Amino acid sequence: MNSATNRWLVLLDHLIEDWVGMVLPRPVVAMQGFVQEDGCSWCGETIHPEEPCPCATRRLYWTRVFRLGAYAPPLSVSILQGKYAAWPEMLALLGTLLGRRIRGCVPPNTVIVPIPMPLIRRWFRRIDHTYILAVHASKASGLPMRRALWRRETTPQAAKTASGRKLLPRNSMWLRPLARMQGRNVLLIDDVLTTGKTLEVASSILQRAGTRSIQVAAVAVTELPRKGKKL
Ligand SMILES: [Zn+2]
Repeated sequence: MNSATNRWLVLLDHLIEDWVGMVLPRPVVAMQGFVQEDGCSWCGETIHPEEPCPCATRRLYWTRVFRLGAYAPPLSVSILQGKYAAWPEMLALLGTLLGRRIRGCVPPNTVIVPIPMPLIRRWFRRIDHTYILAVHASKASGLPMRRALWRRETTPQAAKTASGRKLLPRNSMWLRPLARMQGRNVLLIDDVLTTGKTLEVASSILQRAGTRSIQVAAVAVTELPRKGKKL
């Protein structure tokens, strides 16, 4: 979007806020100043040319990670608002950007699979954020989407420390009946990639179901502390 249009949208938002007393945020305005930035193709972390990437010492369950950027404002704020303030328009924008990023970069018979959300958590939050991201990524990329996984209630990954996240039990997710993933190329969609444990559990289930390849698309990737620490 060009800057003149953006200025008009910002002005319009201010006018509505001042005159009508209502805030009608626009996702493109909230994402103002955001510049898409790729990370490491294998793990998604921000590349620092002077340091080796942490994925050098880490087993990865997928062949590639796509991302829109590092987990930092305005991207991080937009994800949190989309997820916790139940703002589907913001998730639609993020999903569309992700879909445009992957278009032409994955095999043509790839299926988009969202990381599932447990039923109770979905009910409380009133929104299934990864599903909305996946729907819009599917529309923008032209790839089909399939909800191939189910997930049972565990402590949300966002509420855990980095070491606690690594303990996500392998039986926390399972394949839906009739998912038919044999021989398919899969692109897993998640909002934030931190330790990658959730994606690892999903990947190992899909691998056992006979998928040909697994790639990952996350809206943002959290930069983990490095300084010689093993991930
Ligand atoms: Zn890496």
